[in-house]
Amino acid sequence: MSRPRPIVPLSIAGSDPSGGAGLQADLKVFLRFGLSGAAVPTAITVQSAAGVREVVPLEAALVGRQLAALLGDVRPAAVKVGMLGDGAVVRVVARALLPLLRKRIPIVVDPVLTSGDGRRLLPRKDVAVFVRQLVPLATLLTPNVPEAAELAGVSEARVTSHTPDVIAALLRTGAKAVLLKGGHLSGPEATDVLRLGEEMVAYSLPRLPVGRRVHGTGCALSAAIAALLAKGLSLEDAVQQAKEYVHAAIAGSRHVGRGARLLDFQARVGE
Ligand code: PLP
Repeated sequence: MSRPRPIVPLSIAGSDPSGGAGLQADLKVFLRFGLSGAAVPTAITVQSAAGVREVVPLEAALVGRQLAALLGDVRPAAVKVGMLGDGAVVRVVARALLPLLRKRIPIVVDPVLTSGDGRRLLPRKDVAVFVRQLVPLATLLTPNVPEAAELAGVSEARVTSHTPDVIAALLRTGAKAVLLKGGHLSGPEATDVLRLGEEMVAYSLPRLPVGRRVHGTGCALSAAIAALLAKGLSLEDAVQQAKEYVHAAIAGSRHVGRGARLLDFQARVGE
């Protein structure tokens, strides 16, 4: 008796040698949800959890060849797109993902523009091509407040004062749904807002007293959503469960070196 083929989520993201963010983190998150993922690197970063020192995008054609080889053999059940590094890589990834969109494979786009310590991970000049070519492929776009401001071309203050308008502007760029992450805001609760069609859902969890610097929370959230969509959950349920997982992973986060805390990737919730 042949066993069913495994469900394979795919991460397309930058390498982070600390293992706290990027491609390395995504694979750990996939495994936490029981899935053995595929992974295409787009950029090498020189960093530890103490900060990013160098960002080197891979040659776009090389990223394209990795995707062609992989996608010629495996049909991913969902895709997470993280750091891309430059506009040439954005174009190549968008071209490779277009056939997946037609097959209705969910694509979660985490608009990784800067690191937590303020380094550019996508040059400012390449944000327009990202918005034009990649965002329209997104089943879900997951910006935090600074990313939403940059993508919509508004101030961060406007994102918080006119959240529904800014989310509507992001949907007009072609993403099917937007999850605006409120983790950068202050207040006793961390609230994320999901807009899907005309529906708005707010997800709130108590803010944890671990300080601002936990490395890789955005990467883990988008990877967890992709894993759960790959397993067939609805977008609303995937976001809810992914948030609970990241909350538990933050609660269990620890210092590995002198830098920011790293998530507890093995955190378990509701079991
Ligand atoms: N490095 C890589 C490769 C990433 O993909 C990301 C975030 O998405 C980061 C660094 C930034 O992580 P943090 O915001 O925790 O600095």
